[in-house]
Amino acid sequence: GFNCGIVGLPNVGKSTLFNALTQTAAAQAANYPFCTIEPNVGRVAVPDPRLDTIAAIGKSAKIVPTSLEFVDIAGLVRGASRGEGLGNQFLANIRETDAIVHVLRCFEDDDVTHVEGSVDPLRDADTIETELMLADMDSLEKRIAGLQKRARGGDKEAAAQLSLIEPILAGLRDGRPARASIPKGEEEAVRRLQLLTSKPVLYVCNVEEANAASGNAHSEKVFARAAAEGAKAVVVSAAIEAEISQMAAEDRAEFLETLGLSDSGLDRVIAAGYGLLGLITYFTVGPKEARAWTIIKGMKAPQAAGVIHGDFERGFIAAETIPFDDYVACKGEQGAKEAGKMRVEGKEYVVRDGDIMLFRFNV
Ligand code: GDP
Repeated sequence: GFNCGIVGLPNVGKSTLFNALTQTAAAQAANYPFCTIEPNVGRVAVPDPRLDTIAAIGKSAKIVPTSLEFVDIAGLVRGASRGEGLGNQFLANIRETDAIVHVLRCFEDDDVTHVEGSVDPLRDADTIETELMLADMDSLEKRIAGLQKRARGGDKEAAAQLSLIEPILAGLRDGRPARASIPKGEEEAVRRLQLLTSKPVLYVCNVEEANAASGNAHSEKVFARAAAEGAKAVVVSAAIEAEISQMAAEDRAEFLETLGLSDSGLDRVIAAGYGLLGLITYFTVGPKEARAWTIIKGMKAPQAAGVIHGDFERGFIAAETIPFDDYVACKGEQGAKEAGKMRVEGKEYVVRDGDIMLFRFNV
């Protein structure tokens, strides 16, 4: 599965948000279970009303939503790249995540100490980003001498690595995160470098309850920064999310409405996380279960099949495909077949969001 690491300075509301997100998911309808993998790792079911529709039409006995993992990464402080706080352990945890959810304190509350003495989300964002950039510089500098030596000896692969790394390192030295220096078409190669600042970032502006719908002056600055960086930002009130997490599902919608909110922070963070990672969902449906699967946008049918099982990818023959809207309009697979809405797609088919798929494969 895909996972998002939740980072931020101490006392910005990371744990409050993490607990609220995971408890809300836990308290949701039984169809959307949440499980704690480790104390700081939560798997959150991705709410998707299309799945319920498909399960009802297909008379599936069970519904299995797709999920995103959130990892609460505590312990980042100024100086982490030099080993302060949990230092290296913390950085190693971030290295393993697909995307970064960066919680920024945008709420004023004199009772909650700010480690830097005042509320200033842009400064805090810089503080964290600086630690991540220093760690990336360190990791690239350690690799570069060896690569230079091999490149001088005529190693083409080392030379290619160098030409990828050098501009990124120069950017980092100028204060630009690696994600700002990824050459077009080199996304995968850069991903393999396992840098911290090449990961996509979602800023979560944690505002006070009264500002949950509109945001505030602090969150506006964060949105401007996100836009300039090509990152994403959402406004959340961790305090509200904590309250919602204790409510029965049927009371939530009304509570959100009184606050002027159309959906919960959970939904917004998941949706933004999905967008950030370039993820889409396809479905499988049968009498046993209706199930949602997460893939990266642009994946072809065999790769998408591989998310279910490696054998499906290796032995891929074809994929019977029905777009969601046709499945609903034709009241299921049989109707879609009769109406000519079921297509048989081959190896080059790029799977679309909402496709209902049945894979044919050799074992
Ligand atoms: P972490 O260190 O980033 O994990 O921060 P915590 O989630 O432990 O929160 C630190 C303190 O800030 C706790 O006392 C929370 O109750 C408080 N806090 C978190 N979010 C909010 C918020 O939206 N508003 C207010 N007023 N306090 C908050």
